[in-house]
Amino acid sequence: MAVPKKKVSKSQRDQRRSHDALTPGAHTECPNCGELKRPHHICGACGYYEGREVISVSATVS
Ligand SMILES: [Zn+2]
Repeated sequence: MAVPKKKVSKSQRDQRRSHDALTPGAHTECPNCGELKRPHHICGACGYYEGREVISVSATVS
């Protein structure tokens, strides 16, 4: 098994982790239904993009 040769100091370890933070994904409000959607993507709730229905969404899923 590979074993680290030297103990990594808290400073070294935390500097490595300085790039690990996740950033929240981009979201915009759908102008048709108000649901949050990804920019430049069809709305998952109503299927609208650029003011018209691109795909029909079967809404009744119980
Ligand atoms: Zn929508």
